[in-house]
Amino acid sequence: MSSTAWDSVHEMDTHTFRLAVAQFDRAAEMMNLDPNLRHRLKLPERSLIVSVPVRMDDGTVEVFTGYRVQHDSSRGPSKGGIRYHPGVNLGEVAALAMWMTWKCALVGLPYGGAKGGVRVAPERLSRSELQRLTRRYAAEIFPLIGPDKDVPAPDVGTNAQVMAWIMDTYSQQVGFAVPGVVTGKPLSIGGTLGREEATGRGVVYVTLEAMRHLGVEIEKATVAVQGFGNVGSHTATIMREAGARIIAVSDHAGALYDPRGLDIPELLKCYRTDGHLLLRDTKMGELITNEELLALDCTVLVPSALSEQITEENADKVQCKILAEGANGPTTLEADEILTEKGVFIIPDILANSGGVIVSYFEWVQDTQRFFWKAKDIQDRLHEIITAAFHRTLEFSRNRGASMRMAALMSGIDKVAQAHLARGLYP
Ligand code: NAD
Repeated sequence: MSSTAWDSVHEMDTHTFRLAVAQFDRAAEMMNLDPNLRHRLKLPERSLIVSVPVRMDDGTVEVFTGYRVQHDSSRGPSKGGIRYHPGVNLGEVAALAMWMTWKCALVGLPYGGAKGGVRVAPERLSRSELQRLTRRYAAEIFPLIGPDKDVPAPDVGTNAQVMAWIMDTYSQQVGFAVPGVVTGKPLSIGGTLGREEATGRGVVYVTLEAMRHLGVEIEKATVAVQGFGNVGSHTATIMREAGARIIAVSDHAGALYDPRGLDIPELLKCYRTDGHLLLRDTKMGELITNEELLALDCTVLVPSALSEQITEENADKVQCKILAEGANGPTTLEADEILTEKGVFIIPDILANSGGVIVSYFEWVQDTQRFFWKAKDIQDRLHEIITAAFHRTLEFSRNRGASMRMAALMSGIDKVAQAHLARGLYP
């Protein structure tokens, strides 16, 4: 990369961004990617940092920092979630935006990648503070977003209600309802059936394909899930319905373990009746730490919390047969090598968690056409797209002697590269 390009990178130079770039570099090297494209695709197309002043309930004004990063728009509008978390920074958002580009290309959606976020602990805000923060953030990123430009969705710390406030703020500015400006909305304003569970459902669909490939019987499979939010709780629920035993789940405060299998529906009842109730307060199962959960002897491990959870420090202790990456970037490059050497079958994040953006795409198509589909259509089409992507990736990995992660990255990067080469360099 030229020195000027590197100079502009330093604001993003965090460990998560370095992980995304290192993965990209390795894939680009293996596929002999055109050096000019390589320089361009390492950096986002556009990054916006905004100040978000919010009047708090006690009358004071607090100023939060927000971001929206668009990594690539060569194949269509950019698409990606919005994260509310105290650890959000430009580098993390840029890394997540880059992964979204490869993910959309890998599964064949006509989108580029984007991501956004606000550095805030949402659980510390009242509902009205959260609404004011969201509306002001939406107003600040208004010049970048729109159904044909960039379409946000939920991620860590955000949900359908947050999407509804963004949709309303955008619609108030333009003067008419624009459902297609965000996905993951409530059904009443153009949301789709099946979006909330979509990422977890996709994780289960690809895990079942991996089990078939490895000759593992679902009834004998045990599953440990790190993170019990949107992705983790739906993965656990649907995996249990498919016949597997969920032996552990966790949130940020710790994990529950029961080798006979946790009663997930019962757990969800206790967990959801009080938003502030922690898993450990439910007293269902033995209490263990998140570190211990990652080291459990199980068939499938599903990290579905934050990035860089499996590192060179703990990868040696991981004992699963299949690692299904519900979260984005949960495994560092060093850990990846250790796990591969140990023979763990890795379903990489950009494939494993693509169910969310696939159903977001369905939502956007339905909003654009003003024509809404049945739940079964959504599940069937999700299944078709994600299992086809799984088998394409598996075949590519066998043909090229590459890991599943490198195969997925190379397939995604190649589609983006083709789009850039076809369009040419402007001006
Ligand atoms: P969420 O906010 O709904 O849930 C996150 C969960 O992780 C919570 O249960 C939280 O307690 C737990 N957690 C936080 N820190 C933890 C830690 N150190 N150890 C263990 N658990 C911890 O978020 P989500 O939407 O479920 O997203 C989870 C991951 O999945 C993120 O990496 C996100 O980028 C990725 N993802 C989400 C979607 C989606 O549709 N929501 C789609 C694709 C990928």
